[in-house]
Amino acid sequence: MPQSSHRIEPFFDDDPHSPLAVLKRVYGYTAFRGRQAEVVDQVVSGGNAVVLFPTGAGKSLCFQVPALCRDGVGIVVSPLIALMRDQVEALKQLGVRAAALNSSLSREEFMEVRRALSAGELDLLYVTPERVSTPGFRDMIGNARIALFAIDEAHCVSQWGHDFRPEYRELGKLADDYPGVPRMALTATADPHTRDDIIERLNLASAKVFTTSFDRPNIAYEIVERDQPRQQLLQFLSRHKGASGIVYCLSRAKVEETAEWLNGQGIRALAYHAGMDREVRDANQDAFLKEENLCLVATVAFGMGIDKPNVRYVAHLDLPGSVEAYYQETGRAGRDGLPSEVWMAYGMADVIQRGRMIDGGNSAIEIKRVERAKLNALLAICETPGCRRQAILAHFGEPHPGHCGNCDTCLKPVETWDGTDAAIKALAAIYRTGERFGAGHLIDVLMGNENEKTTRFGHVDMPVFGAGKDVPAKTWQSVYRQLLAAGLVSVDHEAFGALKLEPDARAVFKRERQVLFRKDRPTRGKASKGSSARAATAKAALEGRDMELFEALRAARMEIAKGLSVPPYVVFPDTTLVAFATERPTDRDALLGISGVGQSKLERFGDDFLAVIRAHE
Ligand code: ADP
Ligand code: ZN
Repeated sequence: MPQSSHRIEPFFDDDPHSPLAVLKRVYGYTAFRGRQAEVVDQVVSGGNAVVLFPTGAGKSLCFQVPALCRDGVGIVVSPLIALMRDQVEALKQLGVRAAALNSSLSREEFMEVRRALSAGELDLLYVTPERVSTPGFRDMIGNARIALFAIDEAHCVSQWGHDFRPEYRELGKLADDYPGVPRMALTATADPHTRDDIIERLNLASAKVFTTSFDRPNIAYEIVERDQPRQQLLQFLSRHKGASGIVYCLSRAKVEETAEWLNGQGIRALAYHAGMDREVRDANQDAFLKEENLCLVATVAFGMGIDKPNVRYVAHLDLPGSVEAYYQETGRAGRDGLPSEVWMAYGMADVIQRGRMIDGGNSAIEIKRVERAKLNALLAICETPGCRRQAILAHFGEPHPGHCGNCDTCLKPVETWDGTDAAIKALAAIYRTGERFGAGHLIDVLMGNENEKTTRFGHVDMPVFGAGKDVPAKTWQSVYRQLLAAGLVSVDHEAFGALKLEPDARAVFKRERQVLFRKDRPTRGKASKGSSARAATAKAALEGRDMELFEALRAARMEIAKGLSVPPYVVFPDTTLVAFATERPTDRDALLGISGVGQSKLERFGDDFLAVIRAHE
């Protein structure tokens, strides 16, 4: 088996193969971020690594830089062809010799990769997990030197998460098949269960594990009670004119309706779901990557492996199934580190619907119980009067002091009220009516609404009938949601969403337990307005003349991107354009001093952008 040589001599500052020199020359970045440098050192010196960084932390550089520093080709195992294509394209623009090996290649393309590989003309080769374990692949590698193996989206090896890919299990064999070649596993999935699976299944017991905080400080969180969802969504989107983002819906039908409606409102929107014609779906995804100012309305089928760095917002019109799913979906915003906003509208109906999906499925009882617990954990985050960020991170076992200043509850603290009396009434309504009714009917009972149903069941004659007249019906809705989030009541899905009492409710009845509720915001639609800490656009930092230049640079970038048929951010990310607009470099040297401008991009695009900057002097 081929072995790659280890460069054991220390790097000197002027060594063109030192990680920092590669970072500057190829990527145009001045420094490693967070723990990147440690990971790179570990792998460059021949060690194995498990890298657990959140989305946007810069995992790609952790394997790309060592692959460029070490002799031979870096083999990157990646589960999605679309993802590979994007990364290879971006690398080529950086002047890196990269290729992908997957089923979409023509015979000629395949032969060309094969030739380049044996001629030692590749720095990075992306392959699918099913291919890398085949004898054919070993054959193809032949005597080529391998710099490292990087297993991306490594959580796919674990059955614990929802992206399980059996082919990943085979990758454990790389340890024996290619001894001495450093191996790394990378993922943005944080939980300990998945991490242990990765280490065990991929034979990485000897690897150094690198983790960082999973906080995404540039993401502003907001969760609102659903009132008039479309109007609420419009209001949220109005804060993001000119930016691209994702709107998640639960069902395919809702995806299509919402996209159509948004277009009618003058917001360019495209749909994406698994039931669509493949060509249309791919075209919509492609448009989302390549264009700006586009709203993609999608089911959760969309997003895995979407590397678009400038997704400025993510909106949820329906409650996701778990905190993990919520974190992952919202995490697609703001990969580039610029301010981004995520927003969700939810209501009792979601809880019922989600619960029905769980109970209606044919999973085992224990799995259903886990799923229900996951849903309740998310509900608790929705209903928390405290900092959302703190609540989300706490779910992943990470302490956070709270008061983040960048979530709705921090920006507009919610008031709480002693709801013990109200809770007792709400629970009594459930108990007295036999735990057979949903929140709507229970609220009718509390409000004393005489209607066909309350009369037919004799509820009008009960002492609880009308016992809650002193507060508005809306408050009762909120009370029931919060009782659910607190685990004091549960939804019986077999009985069409009837609310049932949980054992903990006893203590409330007996006044042994005080219940604190969050106050509903007075005017919901308006409350969300202006609650974002910063306007979430790259342009937020710019004003006047700089803004004009930024727009001109953006237009120039679009032009170049179209010509090359790549997404604009492959040419330069927004962060680099912002720096162009504010620092106004006027020659090539000055351009090279800007983060994101490496040698290759300077050669290719430098003059075009200089011309735009000079024209704005
Ligand atoms: P991840 O895979 O962890 O989600 P990426 O590798 O896609 O993150 O990186 C996110 C963004 O951050 C990319 O646009 C990348 O170019 C940028 N980036 C990564 N490392 C650095 C760095 N050291 N300096 C500047 N930008 C960086
Ligand atoms: Zn907060």
